[in-house]
Amino acid sequence: MGKRCGQAVLVSPSREPRCAFCDIIAGDAPARVVSRGRGVTVFLPDEPATRGHVLLVPDDHVSDIWALSQGAARTLASEVLRVAGAARDAMQPEGLNVIQSNGPAATQTVNHLHVHVLPRWANDAVDDFWPSPNPTWSTAELDGMRSALEAAVAASKPAGYDMTSEQDREDRRKHLDLISGAIARMAASSAAAKGWSVTLAGAAFGVALVRESWPFIALGILVLVSFAALDARYLNAERHARKVYNSIADDNTVVPLSMKGLATQGRPPRWWWPNHFRNWSIWLFYAPLAVVGGVLLVIALIAGPAAHPADTKSPRETPSQRP
Ligand SMILES: [Zn+2]
Repeated sequence: MGKRCGQAVLVSPSREPRCAFCDIIAGDAPARVVSRGRGVTVFLPDEPATRGHVLLVPDDHVSDIWALSQGAARTLASEVLRVAGAARDAMQPEGLNVIQSNGPAATQTVNHLHVHVLPRWANDAVDDFWPSPNPTWSTAELDGMRSALEAAVAASKPAGYDMTSEQDREDRRKHLDLISGAIARMAASSAAAKGWSVTLAGAAFGVALVRESWPFIALGILVLVSFAALDARYLNAERHARKVYNSIADDNTVVPLSMKGLATQGRPPRWWWPNHFRNWSIWLFYAPLAVVGGVLLVIALIAGPAAHPADTKSPRETPSQRP
């Protein structure tokens, strides 16, 4: 699938099985791709309606406009603007349509949000898609429409912070500070776990070597495994805190001043799941220490039978017994 381990999960697009556009974005299906990058892929439809007709598709699978996040909408809108300008330069059309359809009733055929950029000419092959005889709504019906929409628009709050409001901008700064604080605490806890693991495992290995008591090596390795699990928890929590931070900074879709995302956003359900441990900071730190312990244990097991306590003690004890 499109997901890989570790931080790459944050950047690789989310993909829906059996989605024709996700396949094109992943490069698994052929298409005349015009541009990639910036989270949007631009390509020609199989049968363009006019010269220069292209589709702009968000790389992350989003079914329709109601599933589109603020951040993705901003990116998409800015790409539409760029491609519309480029289409005018390249095709010199007389006009241009931007068409975006949601749901079968609105003629959406692929369930992955897309925007048509359609260069137009007065004599092109596209039929008029606006009805020529306008429906004759009664005054009451028109007033009813207006008031229903007025109420709905007034009730719908824009997602995240309103960047035109000084209070919201201040709250957003506070929110980012809160998350930064959480990130710093997780990073400090991870560093503390590493410090304690070295102290305790080092002590266990030291005791094992000095007293030739090999079970202490197993104890040291157990210490390392336990701290690796603890550290993985901290690092994972830190990764999620960064995700929440990004959703405030880039996407602006969070509930103002809420820390809810920290607990819920995409957290894997089982802490012991191997994904937790797929982190270079875990492997490069704990694995070499555990390997040292393992090597010591192997050496001890190989050399162990030769070092009989009775044999090693006798030469030292014999001289002391003589006088
Ligand atoms: Zn898709």
